[in-house]
Amino acid sequence: MPKLKRERLKVLVRGAVQGVGFRPFVHRLATELLLDGWVLNSSQGVFIEVEGAPAVLRSFLLRLEKERPSRAVIQSLEPSFLDPVGHKRFEIRESDEGGEKTALILPDIATCADCLHELFDSTDRRFRYPFTNCTNCGPRFSIIEALPYDRAHTSMKKFPMCAECDREYRDPFDRRFHAQPNACPRCGPQVELWSDAGKILARGDGALEEAAGAVRSGRILALKGLGGFQLIVDATNEGAVRRLRERKHREEKPFAVMVSSLAAAQELCRISEMEERLLTSAESPIVLLQRKKEGQLALSIAPRNPNLGVLLPNTPLHHLLLHSLGVPVVATSGNLCNEPICIDEREALERLRGIADLFLVHNRPIVRHMDDSIVRVMAGRELLLRGARGYAPLPIEWQSEVGRQKSKTVLALGAHLKNTVALASGRNVFISQHLGDLENAQSYAAFLGSTADLPRLYDATPKLVACDLHPDYLSTKYAAELSAPVRTVQHHWAHVAACMAENELTPPLLGVAWDGTGFGDDGTVWGGEFLSVDAKGFTRTGHLRQFRLPGGDAAVKEPRRSKLGVLYEIFGGDELWQREDLLQDFTKSELTLLRQTLDKKINAPLTSSAGRLFDATASLLGIGSRASFEGQAAMELEFAVQSGVDESYSFVVREGSPLVVDWQPTILQIIEDLRSDQTRALVGAKFHNALAEMIVTVARRIEQQKVVLSGGCFQNRYLTERTIERLSEEGFRPYWHQRVPPNDGGISLGQVVAATMQE
Ligand code: ZN
Ligand code: ZN
Ligand code: FE
Repeated sequence: MPKLKRERLKVLVRGAVQGVGFRPFVHRLATELLLDGWVLNSSQGVFIEVEGAPAVLRSFLLRLEKERPSRAVIQSLEPSFLDPVGHKRFEIRESDEGGEKTALILPDIATCADCLHELFDSTDRRFRYPFTNCTNCGPRFSIIEALPYDRAHTSMKKFPMCAECDREYRDPFDRRFHAQPNACPRCGPQVELWSDAGKILARGDGALEEAAGAVRSGRILALKGLGGFQLIVDATNEGAVRRLRERKHREEKPFAVMVSSLAAAQELCRISEMEERLLTSAESPIVLLQRKKEGQLALSIAPRNPNLGVLLPNTPLHHLLLHSLGVPVVATSGNLCNEPICIDEREALERLRGIADLFLVHNRPIVRHMDDSIVRVMAGRELLLRGARGYAPLPIEWQSEVGRQKSKTVLALGAHLKNTVALASGRNVFISQHLGDLENAQSYAAFLGSTADLPRLYDATPKLVACDLHPDYLSTKYAAELSAPVRTVQHHWAHVAACMAENELTPPLLGVAWDGTGFGDDGTVWGGEFLSVDAKGFTRTGHLRQFRLPGGDAAVKEPRRSKLGVLYEIFGGDELWQREDLLQDFTKSELTLLRQTLDKKINAPLTSSAGRLFDATASLLGIGSRASFEGQAAMELEFAVQSGVDESYSFVVREGSPLVVDWQPTILQIIEDLRSDQTRALVGAKFHNALAEMIVTVARRIEQQKVVLSGGCFQNRYLTERTIERLSEEGFRPYWHQRVPPNDGGISLGQVVAATMQE
């Protein structure tokens, strides 16, 4: 835990929180906990800032939701832990009338308690109706075609309301007053069960029951959910889960599991109060939890993984299905690996043929696809890993001095993998939902859709386009086709800028951007970067020692190639090939070929990637000789780590500009430890600890107190928490991501910030 004496918690609460006694409640709670700060009503919702000890702030956050006035309904709650600004007392501030009047588009909101109650009340006219919703819950972003947000501008326009629904819609005292997707069994969308040939097998409740029966008997169900098709199988049925893996071509990447209730989640996992808050929140994301033991779940759900992604039902349709099933289900996006989720039933029949046995569909069109979001709790705070349903397209308010002075409309096109795009308008940066990997045609189409979508929805014309520095990225090429001037932004600088913006930081600071790969401004592959940031931009002040990656991108799937590159760098072109003990996972002919690649430096790019250094180490330890998804070996290396180890391997920081952090001693000591039969758990811990020490050492050298941690490597919980702890112990102030992913999903925000600073 960081040893900060005082922090500031900023919370924005959206929903039915005005005129229900919410501000007096916040005042009481803050005063009781002796917190300083303020609460304010604005057109966007209730803004709260409180300052105090971190543990008390966390308790404030939990009680804010648990003890809220009974009439208050929360549709979205956005907390960030920030540096204190020195609030002296607690006050209720005057309403902010001068704020921006932008009509915000809300994300899709999980079924509220009232609607859930009606769903299972046999006397209610919406008893077991899978599309019930109200002003407090239901679909939003996934059904909106244009603004203003009213029914005619949503995919509900094809369902004229019946007299009863219309009465509710017009009655200011009704919970469904102006609920745009309002519907009932008489007038609204309906479900059907289709065979894989598109033949209708059942309708309505019969379709639901039959679908549940099929899943119970081990079949794979394609379910048209809220933001697209999901594939559903019984999570306790090993054969069914394996079949899903085979058909989806998804070898080992963990599946998320949907359970019927919090209690059911508690049977599978250890759940902290913060995690419980996330699971049951209106955003209803997948929460990465620590699983208890194998339990009743199929082993192949998350092989060799101590964590489990869990989510609760978040639409009436999911509630009904899970209720009928009585077992947890795998709920994974309906696609082949790396494609975006499929949204149309006719298209689904095509694309999911051969994967799904049955299709549970409905006739409410999905306007834009929306995956499930993923979060985890790290270092006592929430960390978003994938932002989509429940989160997109709510803006990040960018408050830094730079943002205030120059608020240009900027469209940022994001990274190549895990793409999101962002639109900056005024002080808001709207970040799209997770769109996927752009090398995939369908993801690229979704990307094109979103770049057109965001400016249109917010009626903003981009004056500037920001994209990656990589000349060959599809997004970079697309930028050139747009009419606005283009600014390219180096990938790791974008990572750091994103983290800086969401933590409301101003330079100078030290940015640590560690990930798999990004195009450097010297034309090499970067990924283990230390960037000094000032008001004008960044300088590459240090990096991990470079090595050659034989086969380039092929190394992503084969961690042993990273190992070979690292060893080649250490031992050189002659000695390495004598070290057969280290090369046992290659055949003779493979080695001959790779030797040529390395000696001739053809298709063996230089990289300073921390992600690939993880891969190399994992490979030395015999973990994941082949990765079925990017970062798998690094992930398994993290899982192997033994806690409570304080020892660390050594390394050398070579003077120069930039500084070079040389991991050669680390790797040599690992080889030594393995020879003397030290456990993977110990070696893994010492390796992670060494990485944290590298960051501390460079921070000391640069003499920069603020240290910003970003990039995909900081999804690694051990590395992140250890680094935060060590930096804090040594008197530095570490910052990490909260509301924006540390992975490439955060790049679009960083591009906005960096491009604006360059102006
Ligand atoms: Zn509701
Ligand atoms: Zn109706
Ligand atoms: Fe990255």
